[in-house]
Amino acid sequence: MRSRLPFLLITPLLLAGCGAIPSARAPDRPQAASARQPAAVSRPEARKCVTQLGQTGSRFAALPDKFYGAGCSTLNSVKLDGVGGDTAQFSVTNLGVVACPLANTFAGWARYGVDRAARQILGSPLARIETMGSYSCRNVAGTGRMSAHSRAEAIDVAGFVLADGRRISVLGNWNASAEEREFLRTIHQSACKRFGTVLGPEYNAAHRDHFHLEYGGGSFCR
Ligand SMILES: [Zn+2]
Repeated sequence: MRSRLPFLLITPLLLAGCGAIPSARAPDRPQAASARQPAAVSRPEARKCVTQLGQTGSRFAALPDKFYGAGCSTLNSVKLDGVGGDTAQFSVTNLGVVACPLANTFAGWARYGVDRAARQILGSPLARIETMGSYSCRNVAGTGRMSAHSRAEAIDVAGFVLADGRRISVLGNWNASAEEREFLRTIHQSACKRFGTVLGPEYNAAHRDHFHLEYGGGSFCR
């Protein structure tokens, strides 16, 4: 990656709109995204992560490492289509490639955070999580720093479908009935215990329709 450094220094402003997600709705946590260069993950570490993900009962396929240039990469990643629950699997739509450690964190949140809250608060198990994807080669909007999406280390979650057919979306239900409000706030809080950065409707207008769930240390929760 050393050879890409000069290119990186002169191109951040050109990258803001290069992702699948329009930069206008993507001002992620301003001080959080790191500018670190992607580094290959050791094989034992990668294997361990994939083994752990398999133990969650999730449906996925491991993917080869890819470098896309401009600081964007998908390393130690999987294509995640479903995550294991207590008794059934939840499908995950529109996610695509996601970093394996993030997939593991996401699987834990789906099972112990979302599904259990759905049953307790809404009276129905979780069936599906609808996402706006993970990997997107772009900067944090308005900055010269790469978004965690440029490493597939963040997932944007738009909504949830329950086994009884109800659909609860961040946009449509954040301020809806008392039960729906409680459900969305409860799973937002449980996400904050598992992910390094969580952004939702209270953070800014750009996140009115999704939760940004980002892998990493720290505890930025808005
Ligand atoms: Zn995001």
